[in-house]
Amino acid sequence: MDLAPVPHGRRTQRAPALPVIDILWLTAGLSCDGDSIAMTAATQPSIEDLLLGMIPGLPEVRLHHPVLAYKTGKDFLQVFEQAAEGRLEPFILVVEGSVPNEKNKLDGCWAGFGTDRTTGQPIPTCDWIDRLAPHAWAVVAAGTCAAYGGIHAMVGNPTGCMGLPDYLGWKWQSKAGIPIVCVPGCPVQPDNFMETLLYLLRHAAGTAPAIPLDAQLRPAWLFAQTVHEGCDRAGYYEQADFASEYGARQCIVKLGCWGPVVQCNVGKRGWMTGIGGCANVGGVCIGCTMPGFPDKFMPFLNEPPGAKLSTTAVVTYGRTVRALRGFTRASLNKEPDWRTQ
Ligand code: SF4
Ligand code: SF4
Ligand code: SF4
Repeated sequence: MDLAPVPHGRRTQRAPALPVIDILWLTAGLSCDGDSIAMTAATQPSIEDLLLGMIPGLPEVRLHHPVLAYKTGKDFLQVFEQAAEGRLEPFILVVEGSVPNEKNKLDGCWAGFGTDRTTGQPIPTCDWIDRLAPHAWAVVAAGTCAAYGGIHAMVGNPTGCMGLPDYLGWKWQSKAGIPIVCVPGCPVQPDNFMETLLYLLRHAAGTAPAIPLDAQLRPAWLFAQTVHEGCDRAGYYEQADFASEYGARQCIVKLGCWGPVVQCNVGKRGWMTGIGGCANVGGVCIGCTMPGFPDKFMPFLNEPPGAKLSTTAVVTYGRTVRALRGFTRASLNKEPDWRTQ
């Protein structure tokens, strides 16, 4: 079938015969495999639902993941070789981990995947990306490292590593005309990743338009809001009620929370099956979804510079409103006078 992209906002006819789509997942960037682990906790949909064909109208999905595969060694690598030679289409390439700069040293490689049968040497991850990306129907960066470099790309690191858009180019498009899709997070929020994959599969099936991405190549609907806008503690912020120690229920901005300026839906979505979500459960937001992470958010656990100004600005309003609400609440906690007369 034709897997050409559909302009955003238009729907296509359901494909008469759905394709089989292979997902080739490279964990061999500079990575901790955290995004793979996170993905196994997804429920909307779960990876099992996708692989077992439990969701109607989707192509059959075959996942090739080094951590989850039964196959090992050259048997496992075979499908990657086929794809790199253009003999496996269509497939989605998922990259986890940042992409090192293999040109900044004389020998060796920073990251590799599999072994070259002729030389017996590791095959650099960059070589795989160079060979696979031109044949991929879509390329997805899983986690902040793959999207923007992340922790491994901190200033002073020797690998010169970067995210996929910096490596392939921010205007890069797959052969189907789909830009790199970045799903950041350290690790990625499980359902954010699976929902993005589901969207791409629906697009492949011809039942969804092209995926809407923002300027940082993130799925626009998932990253439009700040943590603050969906935080359970936002009411405390509005009333200028700030925690001075962990374990308190108030807003933790003075303990280092960057939520007001960080685009992430974890406050609303939670972490697993709707439960958790950093600031909601008492952990300051350290901005792990953002392209500037981690350098621009350090030192962690210090009050963000902008927070001093903004919290000072809300103090007068917040304390006044809190006091007035206290009076109103005291009144509302009593039955109307006429009931006791
Ligand atoms: Fe690990 Fe975080 Fe990088 Fe994912 S984004 S590979 S979880 S360090
Ligand atoms: Fe905003 Fe963070 Fe306070 Fe939540 S804890 S209300 S995200 S500043
Ligand atoms: Fe990362 Fe902040 Fe979102 Fe937590 S709330 S996942 S620290 S961006």
